[in-house]
Amino acid sequence: MKKKILVTGAGGFIGHHLTKYLVEKGYWVRGVDIKHPEFEQTSANEFLILDLRKWESCLEATKAIDEVYALAADMGGMGFISCHHSEILYNNSLINLHTIEAARQNKVKKYLFTSSACVYPEYKQTSIDVAPLKEEDAYPAAPQDAYGWEKLVSERLCLHYKEDYKFETKIVRFHNIFGPKGTWDGGREKAPAALCRKIATAKLTGNSEIELWGDGKQTRSFCYIDDCVTGLYKIMESNYSQPLNLGQDRLISINELADLISNIANIKITKKHIPGPQGVRGRNSDNSLLKEILKWEPEISLEKGLEITYKWIEEQVRSKLTVKS
Ligand code: NAD
Repeated sequence: MKKKILVTGAGGFIGHHLTKYLVEKGYWVRGVDIKHPEFEQTSANEFLILDLRKWESCLEATKAIDEVYALAADMGGMGFISCHHSEILYNNSLINLHTIEAARQNKVKKYLFTSSACVYPEYKQTSIDVAPLKEEDAYPAAPQDAYGWEKLVSERLCLHYKEDYKFETKIVRFHNIFGPKGTWDGGREKAPAALCRKIATAKLTGNSEIELWGDGKQTRSFCYIDDCVTGLYKIMESNYSQPLNLGQDRLISINELADLISNIANIKITKKHIPGPQGVRGRNSDNSLLKEILKWEPEISLEKGLEITYKWIEEQVRSKLTVKS
């Protein structure tokens, strides 16, 4: 019989891509979210609209399921998570507390929780040439935002469920996942999508000035969505239960990222640096443990991933501008 998988947050960016990947691999997939995917029909065998903050919804979502990929979260880019602390902490705590307990009561066999590089302490990320973050660097704990604190507590929840109930849990810490068919405007978009949108708008309107938050020297690493779903699957299939980074380890500044995208768009841009939330000064993933455990690491280049993402976002911007004119 086919294994039955639940993907929570299947109406969102990573959940939608993961659902497609798992269905293509031959699994039966139930997607759950408070909304349908925005840019493409879901591939899920069953898609339920449920609010996972509610206990009864979590019981329904996890019923007759073998494995759970827990991705549902109230989240967004820096612009969103730096100023919605209470909502994020309240909503995500309820989602994660209820989903894992319902999964346990429904005798789910494996449970994978998607955490974030935002769990890492601010004091280790104060310079642009930051040392890559190893999993153990998360302690002593000092995440920057409520979003990071909640992720860290939910990681602890998974570790305790494993210890106390022998429930097989896994924990992934994503480092800036990007790709097509994700939020690209409206306030929840993350840096790569926002930059693609700004540069596509500059190209299509002829106004070459684009605004960047801060001096643009802040650094990050960015991982393409196809590597992300491959990594998620490999982690679920592994025997490893401690937190594991999943990201690229190529450090790049936001200014350089904008230059890469403008090269792909084939336009010259003028950067205007304005005040705005920037997050930590520098952040990179140390992939030593990932490589050791999975014998694999993300392999799609930033250039390749950005090319695909930019093309898709340019199409979205073009249709929006056409509707307006
Ligand atoms: P996303 O916002 O596109 O997807 C999250 C989904 O969760 C959304 O579709 C949303 O509607 C759904 N959701 C929110 N509240 C819900 C509720 N009460 N009940 C049911 N569904 C609900 O985000 P994403 O980028 O796909 O992220 C997926 C997961 O990975 C999240 O847990 C996020 O915190 C984590 N993560 C993502 C990144 C990244 O770079 N994208 C980085 C670190 C961690």
